[in-house]
Amino acid sequence: MAGKRDYYEVLGVSRNASADEIKKAYRKLARKYHPDLNPNDKEAEEKFKEVSEAYQVLSDPEKRKMYDQFGHAAFSGASGGEGAGFGGFEGFGGFGDMGLDDILEDLLGGFFGGGRRRSSGRRRERTYQREEGEDIYQTVTISLEDAYKGTTLTLEVPRYVVCEKCAGTGEKAGSEPKVCPECGGAGQVTYAQGFMHITQTCPRCGGTGYLKEPCEACNGRGLVLQKETIKVRIPPGVDNGTKLRVPGKGHSGRFGGVAGDLWVIVNVLPHPLYERKGDNLYLKVNINVAEAILGTKIEVPLIDGSTETVEIPSGIQSGETVRIPGKGMPKLKSSGYGDLILVVNVIIPKEKDLSRKAKKLVKELKEELPVPERFTKKK
Ligand SMILES: [Zn+2]
Ligand SMILES: [Zn+2]
Repeated sequence: MAGKRDYYEVLGVSRNASADEIKKAYRKLARKYHPDLNPNDKEAEEKFKEVSEAYQVLSDPEKRKMYDQFGHAAFSGASGGEGAGFGGFEGFGGFGDMGLDDILEDLLGGFFGGGRRRSSGRRRERTYQREEGEDIYQTVTISLEDAYKGTTLTLEVPRYVVCEKCAGTGEKAGSEPKVCPECGGAGQVTYAQGFMHITQTCPRCGGTGYLKEPCEACNGRGLVLQKETIKVRIPPGVDNGTKLRVPGKGHSGRFGGVAGDLWVIVNVLPHPLYERKGDNLYLKVNINVAEAILGTKIEVPLIDGSTETVEIPSGIQSGETVRIPGKGMPKLKSSGYGDLILVVNVIIPKEKDLSRKAKKLVKELKEELPVPERFTKKK
């Protein structure tokens, strides 16, 4: 695994950053490099992967500990796997109940187990560490017509929501508490960091020194993944890359933390007729030579489905434009509309494609028309 950047460096945090600092740094970077926000940007995609990998390790107290000790070598096998939290309870089933109860009794002063004689021990409340929910990014693709009118979309969003079975605690109801394998019941853990020893609240048990069996519905996570139907209103005037925020519809937080947001990223399909630039629409109009000379009236299709008669003035040249005010796209951030701009294209026919009469008329016209100044000086 040579050439891999240091995970702390990747997230831009110090080696003794708190879980909260790591999370904040990750969220900021993940938002910056998210593939949905950086379409077709390979570099951003790589960064996003790098940041996610670093976070996966540093956000998990056990993996972080291993990384601190062994560096990347700690994960040279398969990485990833189960999420953080109360994942592993291996090695517990084997204890005899009596023995374990005794241990608990000693450590916790008989706080657990209701009908015990001793109940004088210090009561250690679980201090759940609230965790904010992650944001969700979802891309939607709409037509230019829908971008013009606005629309309401019904999205199926997979999001983590609070587990109903355990009310988000991650614990199996009525299960016997068992001593926490991380801290051995102390509620605190000490990590060695060079010559320093840092003591902190045990991340596994939240400082209580015990763990209950994990809730089988959420595997101890306190959250379950669910598909939720969410209606999202797309306002008139959205453009490619417009980000719409639906507050609180990201993943739910853990242990009472606030939910993240749902970000809807809009992708507007190209239109067969109109070219969009900001709030203006451009429409190419082909006219023939006689129409260019004499001027003409044209029925112009508008984006709202109606038409409008527009006058093309006499003497218009190819590439010149005619502006129809207020017939472009609605402005997303203010009232009013952009303009529709006709781009005139004069079709010059080949002689062989003309009727005998047209040929004759054009030949006469050639005799009649003044010869233009051939070479005009640059201004
Ligand atoms: Zn613990
Ligand atoms: Zn649960």
